[in-house]
Amino acid sequence: MTEQASAKVNMEKIVSLCRRRGFIFPNSEIYGGLSSCWDYGPLGVELKRNIKQAWWRAVVQERDDMVGLDTSILMHPQVWTASGHLKEFADPLVECKSCHLRWRSDDLDGNNCPSCGGELTESRLFNLMFKTFMGPIEGEASVVYLRPETAQGIFVNFQNVVNTTRKRLPFGIAQIGKAFRNEITTGNFIFRSREFEQMEIEFFVKPGTDEEWFEYWLEERLNWYVKLGIKRENLKLRQHTKEELAHYAINCRDINYLFPMGWAELEGVANRGDFDLVQHASSSGKSLKYLDEETNEHIIPYIIEPSAGVDRSTLAFLCDAYDEEPYKNEIRVLLHLHPTLAPIKVAVLPLSRREKLVTVAKQIYADLRPHWMVSYDDAQSIGRRYRRQDEIGTPFCVTVDFQSLEDEQATIRERDTMNQIRVPIKELKAVLAAKLSGECFDTQLL
Ligand code: ATP
Repeated sequence: MTEQASAKVNMEKIVSLCRRRGFIFPNSEIYGGLSSCWDYGPLGVELKRNIKQAWWRAVVQERDDMVGLDTSILMHPQVWTASGHLKEFADPLVECKSCHLRWRSDDLDGNNCPSCGGELTESRLFNLMFKTFMGPIEGEASVVYLRPETAQGIFVNFQNVVNTTRKRLPFGIAQIGKAFRNEITTGNFIFRSREFEQMEIEFFVKPGTDEEWFEYWLEERLNWYVKLGIKRENLKLRQHTKEELAHYAINCRDINYLFPMGWAELEGVANRGDFDLVQHASSSGKSLKYLDEETNEHIIPYIIEPSAGVDRSTLAFLCDAYDEEPYKNEIRVLLHLHPTLAPIKVAVLPLSRREKLVTVAKQIYADLRPHWMVSYDDAQSIGRRYRRQDEIGTPFCVTVDFQSLEDEQATIRERDTMNQIRVPIKELKAVLAAKLSGECFDTQLL
């Protein structure tokens, strides 16, 4: 982790902005906080919702070969035996404090991380899954786990989806949901927490076509981040070595992002082979085979899994968008968030609190609100208000001034260039819609 992210951005600045402006707060703060749990504030919840919506749109809505699912956090305990989680996560574990690779302490020769030489945590029997009890009686018979990944909910519903949607291979199932891991070491803000959200795809393919689909999904997922504004030079792929591959994986590559603390995993794309369906079929005694109508054979599909973190994506989008530039003897802080992701799309600002201006501005505010998240601000100077919107990534401000009362026009001011254009008030919605539609967010056009 020698490379540094842009000198302008560091984790302290992101944490401070997030807290100051209501993106992210420490959890249970009035009680002193709960380690590595975070709450998304009014702006954070919008940003996170927009990220999830953009993902869902790209991987479900716009595709013919994908469907969605929303499965329960609590699952039958046997799921975790079949998946390998109970066994794999119950070893005496140590974790490297710098690269976060985990090692079985009884497999190690020395006292340092075999990968990077870093210092290791103390060894302890550690199961990453949170255990709880179902029903009124606490005992081994009622033990259930909070899921450590959303994937298993998809695997156990494979046959249900095939039967109810009549999807044929290759097809995929997408799910967004909470996952819980009792991580040994947490930190770096929302990068690694114990409760987080995942956006996972399980893409079922015919054996033999798996590596081709693996490459396809890597490319798709990489492009998704770039399309939504992440600079390509801040993303890179990292191939897992044979030794490092998870017990279920034939192949795995991470999409890494240059976070302020260095390169780290944003998303993992794995070729899981037939491991999951074989395991669940044998553990449940139910057939999870698929009838290949071309050959009339029953086969077990292979699975390609692009697995992304909502919180890590949120952090990456924030870090990548963060910018500071000199402006009139001060520093203008701004988030160059893609309009699709920006929590607030438009801010309506009357030049002053004069009643006539406020009436017009409030009417514009009311007219735009059904279409987008819009905010209204009439406190302090117009310059200050622009800065406030820049800092939270609002792509457009609409300003109503005295001239507006005469010519029925308002000013649209664009965040990145600070360019301004006059637009008839009755055309505001159409003009903003065109500018916000994502593809045509081109500051050159303003
Ligand atoms: P890491 O090596 O960083 O612990 P992982 O390889 O265990 O991650 P996966 O099991 O591949 O992670 O999970 C898929 C995605 O879920 C990750 O790429 C990441 O975006 C997200 N994720 C995993 N663990 C956490 C966590 N503790 N906090 C936030 N996001 C997480």
